[in-house]
Amino acid sequence: MRGLTFQGTREVRVADVPDPGIADPGDAVVRVTMAGICGSDLHIFNAGEAFGFQPGARLGHEFIGTVEEAGPEAGVRPGDRVMASVSTMCGECGFCREGKAYACVRWSMFGWAPRTWRHGGDVQGGQSEFVRVPLAATTLHRMPEALAGEDREASLLPLVDVMSTGWHGLTAAGTQAGWSVAVIGDGAVGLAAVHGARAKGAERIVCLGHHPDRLETATALGATLVIDSRDDEEIREAVREHTGGEGAHVVVDTISGDASMATAHACVRAGGTIACLGMDHFMGKVPGINWFDQFTRNISVTGGLVPGAVYLPELLGLLEAGRIDPAPMLSHRLPLEDAAEGYRLMAERVEGVTKVALQPGR
Ligand SMILES: [Zn+2]
Ligand SMILES: [Zn+2]
Repeated sequence: MRGLTFQGTREVRVADVPDPGIADPGDAVVRVTMAGICGSDLHIFNAGEAFGFQPGARLGHEFIGTVEEAGPEAGVRPGDRVMASVSTMCGECGFCREGKAYACVRWSMFGWAPRTWRHGGDVQGGQSEFVRVPLAATTLHRMPEALAGEDREASLLPLVDVMSTGWHGLTAAGTQAGWSVAVIGDGAVGLAAVHGARAKGAERIVCLGHHPDRLETATALGATLVIDSRDDEEIREAVREHTGGEGAHVVVDTISGDASMATAHACVRAGGTIACLGMDHFMGKVPGINWFDQFTRNISVTGGLVPGAVYLPELLGLLEAGRIDPAPMLSHRLPLEDAAEGYRLMAERVEGVTKVALQPGR
């Protein structure tokens, strides 16, 4: 079959790779119909060797599709339309039972370096025609019948990671209806946090970014104010003015680097919470918490890696009820064979590109 492979710094290639099969009774093999390229894939693209990626490693942790083959304990059947969690989850360990699937004792991340394959066996990338899914009974979710169908795939794919991640930050920060939320970053996760904040009933939603096209999408998805500025004093003023002089109850920082954390402190209300969802620290840009501000204004810091599929049932319910529709976050759809072009479009932040979806078999 065909699958996207990492070849070295800033080089990926679609190549012939081994067909996956059932290796364990709990496995399923999924025929991928749509797979996302994630901002975190760009970190691999730019510096994969630093994370242990070898040439030939397969990428992609966001995918939906149809069950092709299922082991006797997979809990799904061939033909089922499913969405996968970004990482495997057993559903039984103490962490899974607490909704903390990021710490599942059998956690493995799809499409990450083999060092994350704790479960044993390949947990390959989803940017391919087929992918083996271990622990399928809890790692896969059947799509509701009402949402099945090719025309809804662009609404479903973003739930797998970006909507779940944005929702995780908002939830970890305890976001309440009527609150104000400021989102730093206008990438897909930033847009997801904006959209999620609206679904949680936030009254004032500010999005900070530097791409006019994405800020326009942010407004369409729920932002009540967009700011394109690199001046923290100017940002502080604008956010205060928009939030009754107080600042935002919740700041979602989708970058989580040194500069963005300073901006987060400038936006957050006294007693408020900063939720860090970005990965800049993976690249050595360790965010500095302003401990003086933290102490004197009682600022909490939360966020982190998304807990797998924990939010999928809730998000699917919101999608079914028409309260969210993240489809506008996907700006481009390309055949799998054009995956390298998809990476280039995203890595170069080409105008009009927010997120690229790959469609194997098209
Ligand atoms: Zn992702
Ligand atoms: Zn578990």
